[in-house]
Amino acid sequence: MTIKVLKFGGSSLADAEQFRKVREIIFKEPGNKYVVASAPGKRFPEDIKVTDLLYKSMKKAVSGGNFQSRLDEIKDRFQQIIEDLGIAMDIEPDIELIREHLLGTPDTSYMGSRGEYLNSKILAEYLGFEFIDPAKCVVFDNEGNFMAEETRELLSKRLEDVDAAVIAGFYGARKDGRLQTFSRGGSDITGSIVAEAVGADIYENWTDVSGLLAADPRIIDNPKGVEYITYRELRALSYMGASVLHRDAVYPVAKAGIPINIRNTNRPNDKGTMIVSDMPEWVMSDQISGVAGFKGVTIIHIEKMRVSDEAGFTAVILDVFKDKGIPFEQCQTGIDTVTVSVKSEFVEGAILKDILYDIEKKLEPDDIFVRSNMAMVAVVGENNADSCNATSELLSAINHADIEIFTINQGAGNLNLLVNVSENDYEKTIKVLYDVIAAQIDN
Ligand code: ASP
Repeated sequence: MTIKVLKFGGSSLADAEQFRKVREIIFKEPGNKYVVASAPGKRFPEDIKVTDLLYKSMKKAVSGGNFQSRLDEIKDRFQQIIEDLGIAMDIEPDIELIREHLLGTPDTSYMGSRGEYLNSKILAEYLGFEFIDPAKCVVFDNEGNFMAEETRELLSKRLEDVDAAVIAGFYGARKDGRLQTFSRGGSDITGSIVAEAVGADIYENWTDVSGLLAADPRIIDNPKGVEYITYRELRALSYMGASVLHRDAVYPVAKAGIPINIRNTNRPNDKGTMIVSDMPEWVMSDQISGVAGFKGVTIIHIEKMRVSDEAGFTAVILDVFKDKGIPFEQCQTGIDTVTVSVKSEFVEGAILKDILYDIEKKLEPDDIFVRSNMAMVAVVGENNADSCNATSELLSAINHADIEIFTINQGAGNLNLLVNVSENDYEKTIKVLYDVIAAQIDN
């Protein structure tokens, strides 16, 4: 029997109709034993997620305002689900506890967690599964850092003799007992932790899209889906802005070698995307997995004659950024030149002046110039056996589209090409690169 952990996101549990779909998916296979649930998400585009309603009610309470109408809204969302599902459950005592909490000194994590807590309780009741409160088995230290080892031990012990369970996503508790949430979208992480703890064969992450797309659908009409992708590629694409899974959800399962399958609750027959540690052999060796990127990049270019003969020139430059706590995105070194790319948000106004001043002072360069309003675009395809050919094809596509490339980065490893172009050319660059990828998929 294949043991699965199934995590359902907010849109999959937004109302009773979605709950019914979820139930059908779960009862299809006997190994579907462990379910992780999010709080109810949006039912329609203008709707408000329950987690956001909880934060809004807290904001009202903190500012001394009347939070009752927000709390009523929250209660109504859950009450509606319970009624529509026809289950007997009284959430009044839980709502009363939230109300009392709001009257005291409300805590962001406590409030944020209540959506998952209540929704998971309802789902457990509806399925006839045991409800597991992660406050007792997902551990954080008193600074709010997640404690992986301890959690794995506690959680696997807790689930050892449980036949079927719904575990609330998104939160756990600190050593001192206070609740602690992960960052937004963190139920994905809970799903991954549970999969690792029970040694699942697969972690199914059910959402409202049929997996990862090879490009941003806001730029490309109907982009192709990605059938297989490695953890490392996914990490690269998520870093570049592709969003389908919380970034931190990859680590626990990647370590244990458990594949993640992104699935669509509204189209359960779609295969979705399989995230694996190594590509299956039959996946085409010239596959490029996807393209992603972001705007808002600033490039700082430094030149100094004969500096390549000296050791440590680049290190001194990077130290200037490090000393100011500014992470850099890329750093290209040429003969007597260094180019550093950073997110513009980190080098606004006086900070940029400071950086340039420090570089001038420490290195006395011959030339230094700054280009802002740049964009960074990445193409990943680590299964690509001929990355040299792929790179030349991708670059030539950009060139044919008359797009100026400011920097190129392609390491010695597998295909992971990064280019900097002007923000004005960002969408065009994604389009031409996607065309190359799509042509490969079609072949
Ligand atoms: N409900 C939380 C959020 O909206 C966590 C989650 O859905 O994963 O961010």
